[in-house]
Amino acid sequence: MKTVCLTPQEIEKALIDKGVQPTAQRIAICRYVLCEADHPTAEQVKEWADKNFPKMSLATVYNTLNTLVDVELLSEVKLPHSDKVMYDNNIHKHYHFIDEESGKLYDIDPDEVEVSARLKRKFKIRDIKVVLRGKVTG
Ligand SMILES: [Zn+2]
Repeated sequence: MKTVCLTPQEIEKALIDKGVQPTAQRIAICRYVLCEADHPTAEQVKEWADKNFPKMSLATVYNTLNTLVDVELLSEVKLPHSDKVMYDNNIHKHYHFIDEESGKLYDIDPDEVEVSARLKRKFKIRDIKVVLRGKVTG
């Protein structure tokens, strides 16, 4: 469930709408993380940057990712199969399925999973995260 790929102009507008200065480097990183990449880690974004924008520093990559998370164009995902943070361009509520063989992450529509909590104490639930793991068969 990837967001529709945005043109550089649309990315520029999205950044401006969020109050972020649309520098060429930021637009480039957005193109990659919002359109091409699938739950990349910061390291993967840096690898991509090294190939396409050899002068981009690691700090720029991290700062841009943090900015995109701050303005809610990206969300951070931390899952038990890896100690790395992944960046998710699907900012709508969804769960994740981990393919245990490849480690690849799939987005799962919450409608496809039924989660019900029957707490006996007075906890107020703010968020439920569901991680499914297994094998991709089809
Ligand atoms: Zn996701």
